[in-house]
Amino acid sequence: MITRVLQAGEGIARATELIRRGQVVAFPTETVYGLGANALDPAAVEKIFAAKGRPGDNPLIVHIAGLEEMAPLVQGELPEAAALLAEAFWPGPLTLILPKSHRIPDVVSAGLDTVGIRMPDHPVARALIRAAGVPIAAPSANRSGRPSPTTARHVLQDMAGRIPLILDGGSCGVGVESTVLDLCSRPARVLRPGGVTPGMIAGVLGSVDVDESVLQPLKEGETVRSPGMKYKHYAPRGRMTIVQGAGAQGEIARLYDEAERAGQRACILALEGNVPAYGERRVLALGADAESAAAKLFAALRSMDELGIQRIISEAVPPNGMGLAVMNRLERAAAFDLVSLTPEEKGNC
Ligand code: AMP
Ligand code: MG
Repeated sequence: MITRVLQAGEGIARATELIRRGQVVAFPTETVYGLGANALDPAAVEKIFAAKGRPGDNPLIVHIAGLEEMAPLVQGELPEAAALLAEAFWPGPLTLILPKSHRIPDVVSAGLDTVGIRMPDHPVARALIRAAGVPIAAPSANRSGRPSPTTARHVLQDMAGRIPLILDGGSCGVGVESTVLDLCSRPARVLRPGGVTPGMIAGVLGSVDVDESVLQPLKEGETVRSPGMKYKHYAPRGRMTIVQGAGAQGEIARLYDEAERAGQRACILALEGNVPAYGERRVLALGADAESAAAKLFAALRSMDELGIQRIISEAVPPNGMGLAVMNRLERAAAFDLVSLTPEEKGNC
């Protein structure tokens, strides 16, 4: 199969036609690029799983373009919380988990009786959903396990020859996937942090829980609430370690030097203001704050592979606000290899 890349404006008509014919198309959203198909057509949705190499027990998010499209996808009456959150944050990077109606094929929800629904805040995504006239099921447009794509070039790296069309809409603004919020739990529970933070949700609902798995590996035998969180994710090829706490910069420099002495090509991931602290060492800057770290993170992880980096040592960011989403992705990219320094250890660095 030949994969065409078209500028979003000129490509929407072609993308619409493909979606209507049960094909798969990559398109930009404000979070990351999505790999979309008609959510109501099981055979079309199967093609998403095949193109990504995605395990069949990992459900897809259903994307809509108007509020009126939500109720038919949900079983029973819409909870008030859903209406309030949609009003506050849609269109935007928030996915709501609700009981699914019979219209959602089992392949979309991976056999669960719930469905994740989101209204993206990107003109191309909205125009495509509207023109196709159906909800679009779309996971991130990477091969399973790879960092999510935030440019059309990233999508092409993973999907060349596997899908017919990529709509190029430039770089994604948020840069990490949507917040996944389970509205079937009481209180509502964040299963995956993203651009809509727990604080913002609590501002609307009064309170919200954050699932333990957000910053910790699953314990053995633990039931996973968000199936996607159990897989190795976002992983660059090089071994990655995150260092946090007192004296982290010294320890990061030490781990870098140790790797280079052992003949490995190493690189540091750091916030922009800290780059000078690492002297002549190879550093990729993540921007000045958690928001820009989120926007740059996946591109940085992909560049590590392009630069042939074998050892990555990353700074941590405080896990507040958008920092929670950044740490959630960093920890998975590092397969939870996290070094936490206490003040006493500072002297050793
Ligand atoms: P992706 O589409 O690659 O951004 O991944 C979608 C994420 O949403 C995965 O982590 C899924 O496990 C999660 N998700 C989607 N639908 C549900 C659902 N019904 N219940 C819980 N998590 C879900
Ligand atoms: Mg994904």
